[in-house]
Order: sequence, then structure tokens, then C-alpha cells
Amino acid sequence: MIKCETISQLREIVNEWKQQGKRIGLVPTMGYLHEGHLSLIDYIKSHCDCVIASVFVNPKQFGPGEDIDRYPQDFERDMQLLQERGVDVLFIPESNEIYPDDYYTYVQVDELGKGLCGRSRPTHFRGVTTIVSKLFLITKCDVAAFGQKDYQQAVIIQRMVKDLNFDIQIIVCPTVREEDGVAMSSRNSYLSAEERSSAVHLYQSLKRAENLFKSGELHAARLREEMKSSLLSTPEINVDYLEVVDAETLQSIDKVHRITLLAGAVWVGKTRLIDNILIDP
Ligand code: AMP
Repeated sequence: MIKCETISQLREIVNEWKQQGKRIGLVPTMGYLHEGHLSLIDYIKSHCDCVIASVFVNPKQFGPGEDIDRYPQDFERDMQLLQERGVDVLFIPESNEIYPDDYYTYVQVDELGKGLCGRSRPTHFRGVTTIVSKLFLITKCDVAAFGQKDYQQAVIIQRMVKDLNFDIQIIVCPTVREEDGVAMSSRNSYLSAEERSSAVHLYQSLKRAENLFKSGELHAARLREEMKSSLLSTPEINVDYLEVVDAETLQSIDKVHRITLLAGAVWVGKTRLIDNILIDP
């Protein structure tokens, strides 16, 4: 595995691959890797000739007071895991390589970033679409993989690719979970033992709503209530949002009549966790 810290170094490799007609796949990450990230690598590895993984804690997607200063990092371990999974190039730039002092340009997808996580993190998705655009242009990738865990992010990126005519296939891979159902996340490492046992209630609340739907309930308000009622009684948990939205438009719905997203974000102590489930009538 080649480790690239500069854009010019990465471009040299990519240009050579392009001349050879290779199909290039990209997995963007913020590092502190787990099996969720590695499932994206595995997908790209089996569908592309060349695999690029990026590890970059993107400052533009953190708002004031968020956890950028304590975001977990273990570059040595990340490098080992990526090497073991057959990644060809790790792109791991410093912040000023990506955003020099005179950086002024942003990419923003309107509408889709306003609800769900966008309500409490108003500048987050602009930061995501900006870094992902830069990575697409730098890596000249043909395919890029993202996780369903960050469903809103995946929808926004798909829309950006469509609207800006990026010639890139976007793959959304299923959420990888711990044995008890908690979605794997780098941020789970913040949780104390007690908080970790509370964290499972987010997933369980989504499952309860899914079960209610499977038993015939189509009213979004009832599904939302089902999620809420199981979480409000959980110690250590503060709900940011629990929503039932159209899976494509991310708009709130009254009744489930096509593929629908049950999505939640909660604070477990000082840690914000998100999760979601798709339901399909
Ligand atoms: P992050 O490092 O958190 O920015 O995540 C990098 C990529 O990994 C994103 O596309 C995430 O959606 C994806 N990802 C994170 N956690 C999981 C998970 N538990 N299962 C599947 N994909 C994930």
C-alpha cells in the first residue's frame, strides 16, 4: 500500500492508472476504522481494479463546539487494517493540503440538508459535499462507496453527483452493526460502559417502529410515537430527532406508501449517535 500525503503525489499515481484504463474506487473516511468502513473497502476491492481509501478528519464538516478536537485517531492501526484489506493507496493529507489559507470554495446541495441532522448541524453537509467533491476530482474515481448509516449524507452525495454531472457511480452499503445491534461508529469509542448499554436503545426503538409497521401500522405519527416512547424512559439518552421521512426526498410524511426512512439521532451523555432503518411497503 502506498501512503500519499500530497495531492500531487496521488495525482501521479491516478494518472498512470487512468492511462492503463483501470477502474478506480474510492472510500472516503475520517479514520479510526471499524468493520463498517472496511465493508466499504471490501465492496470496492471486489468491484474495481484499484482501491483508494482516504483518512481525513475534515474540519469543514464540524460546527463550532463539536468534537473535532477530540475525534478519535489511530493512524498506525488504520494503516495496518487498510493494508490487510488490500487497499492500493491511502490518501492521508494534512488539513492545509486540502484547505490552504486562501481557500474560498464550497459545494452545497440545497433542501436535502435542511432536515434531520441538518437541523442541529447546519453547516455539516456543506462541509461533507465540499470534501467529497474535492476527493472525487483529485482521485478521478469511477466508483465511490458510502454507508447507509449516514443515510442523509448518502442521499445528498447522490444528488450532488446527479446535479453536477460527476461521472461516478455511488454505492451505498448496508450498516454494519455490533452484535447487540448498535451501528458501528468511530464515536462509539467515546461511550462509557453505562452509556454503551444505553446506546442500544436507539436501534431498538427503530426496530420497534419497524415491527409496528410490519404489523400493519402505516401512520407516521404512530411509528414516531413508538420510537419516542421507548427512548424517553432511557437514562442517559436525550433525543435530538426521531423522524419518519420519505427515503428519497427526506421530507416528513403522514403515511407510509413507499420506501420510507425511520431515522434517529440521540445524545448519549456527550456523544451524538445516529441510526436509521428503511421500511418498504
Ligand atoms: P466516517 O469515517 O464516519 O466519516 O465514515 C466513512 C464512511 O463509512 C461513510 O460513508 C460512512 O457512512 C461509512 N460508515 C460509517 N459507519 C458505518 C457502519 N456502521 N456501517 C457501514 N458504513 C459505515
